[in-house]
Amino acid sequence: MKRVSITKEFTWDMAHMLGGHEGLCKNLHGHTYKMQVEVCRADGDVIKNCEASKSMVVDFKDLKSIVKSKIVEPLDHAFMYWNQSPDAAEHQIADVLKSTGKKVVEVSFRPTAEEMAIDFFERLSKDLEDCGLEVLCIRVWETPSSFAEVKKEK
Ligand SMILES: [Zn+2]
Repeated sequence: MKRVSITKEFTWDMAHMLGGHEGLCKNLHGHTYKMQVEVCRADGDVIKNCEASKSMVVDFKDLKSIVKSKIVEPLDHAFMYWNQSPDAAEHQIADVLKSTGKKVVEVSFRPTAEEMAIDFFERLSKDLEDCGLEVLCIRVWETPSSFAEVKKEK
């Protein structure tokens, strides 16, 4: 059996810190993140009947606009703040940034590439369900040689 999927890539710049980490990542720092989003139609095929989107899983342009508005734009040039961090400095940094009108994205998970990939997978699965799409795989790169992956189980 075969399944047709499409994949789109996104990048954004973001700051984070890993509270409780022993190494360098406990410090406030940033990455240029890269993400791949792979989707297929829930029925595994391409759209055949709708003239405007004939022979496509979904228009790349439409996938781009959904992922950008839901995930990428809110995170770009933000500080991802873990609201359960064991490091008091992280809460203080978030407070200063928020009180001076800077971009802070508060999350309830430790901001590792693994946790982000899980969160993006779950959120995009919900957002794309209405378009008849299934998310097959999310990959989040923290550096050019390191990525975390969440895949749909078969
Ligand atoms: Zn990092």
